[in-house]
Amino acid sequence: MLDKTKQDWTSLAAEIEFEGRAFINGRYQDALAGETRPTMSPGDGQKLTDVANCGTEDADNAVGIARSAFESGVWADMAPADRKMVLVRWAELIEENADEIALLECLDVGKPIADTTGVDVPSAIRTIRWSGEAIDKVYDEIPPTPANSLALVQRLPLGVVAAIVPWNFPLSTTAWKLAPSLATGNSVILKPASNTPLSALRIAGLASEAGLPDGVLQVLPGPGGSLGRHLSLHEDIDGLTFTGSTEIGKQLMIYSGESNLKRTFLELGGKSPNIVFADADLEKAALFAAIAVFYNGGQTCTAGTRLIVENSIREKFVEMVVEKSRNWMPGHPLDPATTMGPMIDAAQLKTVADYVGIGQEEGASLMFGGKQVMTDSGGCYHEPTIFDGVNNNMRIAREEIFGPVMSVIGFDDAEEAVQIANDSIFGLAGAVWSNNINTAHKVARAVRVGTMGINNYFGGDITVPFGGFKQSGNGRDKSMHAFDDYTELKTTWIEFD
Ligand code: NAP
Repeated sequence: MLDKTKQDWTSLAAEIEFEGRAFINGRYQDALAGETRPTMSPGDGQKLTDVANCGTEDADNAVGIARSAFESGVWADMAPADRKMVLVRWAELIEENADEIALLECLDVGKPIADTTGVDVPSAIRTIRWSGEAIDKVYDEIPPTPANSLALVQRLPLGVVAAIVPWNFPLSTTAWKLAPSLATGNSVILKPASNTPLSALRIAGLASEAGLPDGVLQVLPGPGGSLGRHLSLHEDIDGLTFTGSTEIGKQLMIYSGESNLKRTFLELGGKSPNIVFADADLEKAALFAAIAVFYNGGQTCTAGTRLIVENSIREKFVEMVVEKSRNWMPGHPLDPATTMGPMIDAAQLKTVADYVGIGQEEGASLMFGGKQVMTDSGGCYHEPTIFDGVNNNMRIAREEIFGPVMSVIGFDDAEEAVQIANDSIFGLAGAVWSNNINTAHKVARAVRVGTMGINNYFGGDITVPFGGFKQSGNGRDKSMHAFDDYTELKTTWIEFD
């Protein structure tokens, strides 16, 4: 795929036929009120296409269809081995259309084409294939009961599940939600982020082609504040799975309590610590310190935005990280050489610029970047930016910026490093760099986050659970543990005479 040039990708982009209609009951349809809204390309600010703007009436219609599909048993009661075949075929169809889907994600999200071809699409394929292949290998339980009885503990699907996803990893988060919820037999309504609906709409059609029965999957694009809220408050939705901000996640817990106590699982924000000890492989640690923050323009929930460095090497190490950061100057998403694309939109660019100003007012030292660039492009590009001399009480160390801004904080010993790392409302991810196995393990265990790397950042794959401690969420995406979020445990107790 990377044998293609920017010109090749630009020509392919010109040929794409965008699908912007909602996907309901196995076919693409306009919103009931006929409303649309444009979706724009962050790379150049140009309109890509019009997308259905679904409202509460579309939600009610989709919930009714999903409920009928669930109650009919057409999917929920299908043998797991047969559900597996559909999901595996779906993964194959995504693979057969990989270039087109990678291009959609690149245009809609502004992600570099090297990332969408190399990470987002392969990850979605693997997630769907893996969950499909796993589902006919999950056994239920027979507990150790007295001899005159037999008990069965079974996992049954929740019923109708709503999935609400963000704009920063639309395809990956869609796959993380759809693969386990469908594998376990639920009917699902997915609401993509308003900014980035295109890849989810495209793969929904492929699910039908793979044999997913009509009505089992609906994709409704539309505004979070009305459509998303309505789904979250819906009395006939049994489960809600969400990836997005902590602010909206808290709201969803309230909606669940105000309605039918639907099972609500949240994957939320982060302010992740990346801890570097003096005895680490500093060359590798510096390379990954930059990757940890600037990958996806810092619009990553697990971004290692707090670089916590042993004071004895801090000055030298920051210089090394500055050097590595030069490889992350933004470029056009369709250029295969681009490592970092634009911010998703002007609002996000303004947020980043505001925090750069806040960091300076708070007294941190701007070591690199700090400015908007490529202003003639029509897109919202920002330099990789590094602040040194940050105190963990500063706002740039406490709040999720969701942009390419790194805050460097010094420490003197392991205890202080852990104390700083844990002094956050978030607990999503982190890493520790040290060649002393004792230090590395002790620190990794003590940091209260869902995923911790030792001498790597962003390590992991579909085989391991992903999710947060504290205000970074509950529940887990990926691995067999994801099935827990989409099933109820049912006990059947049998007694013999
Ligand atoms: P967001 O503003 O919370 O939006 C996420 C989704 O929720 C969107 O589809 C949005 O729709 C919808 N929404 C907004 N208000 C809603 C409401 N009142 N009721 C129901 N749904 C509502 O988050 P974002 O800005 O798209 O994404 C960035 C955030 O996601 C960051 O905080 C990031 O850390 C987090 N994130 C977490 C993970 C993880 O796995 N932990 C992964 C990726 C991202 P609209 O698009 O229409 O607003």
